[in-house]
Amino acid sequence: MDLQERMKRFEETCRRQGLPVTVQRRAVYEALASRKDHPTADELYDAVSRRLPGISRTTVYRVLETLVKMGLAIKVDHPGARSRFDANATDHPHAVCLACERVFDFEVRDFDLGDIPEQLPDGFQVTGVTVVVHGYCPFCRAALEKNRG
Ligand SMILES: [Zn+2]
Ligand SMILES: [Zn+2]
Repeated sequence: MDLQERMKRFEETCRRQGLPVTVQRRAVYEALASRKDHPTADELYDAVSRRLPGISRTTVYRVLETLVKMGLAIKVDHPGARSRFDANATDHPHAVCLACERVFDFEVRDFDLGDIPEQLPDGFQVTGVTVVVHGYCPFCRAALEKNRG
């Protein structure tokens, strides 16, 4: 989906959910949707405040939470690191670098989530599965190898 399509979908979703398309919401969503590197809330704040000077960090954080609730973005969490955001809200696996904490998308063909049932024995209804793999990204691997000599 290109940026223009995403912006259209954003406006439609706001309308459907009865939320006004404010300048702030538009700017935050556009900043997120125009990149694929899974930025942190602070990185998005930096990008948005260049275009909307005077927007507060709190507003950016709040808009991000709203976008997640609306299903227009997902939050990629991993222990010990800051949350990162992704405008691609469809289920897709992520690879997290243990050294630089960057988050990458990856694709696997015939991905099999194994035997996760739709309902767990205690009555828990499963609605989605998040896959996160950990390791070292090519940049950090190169740096590690260089240090090793
Ligand atoms: Zn890395
Ligand atoms: Zn992603």
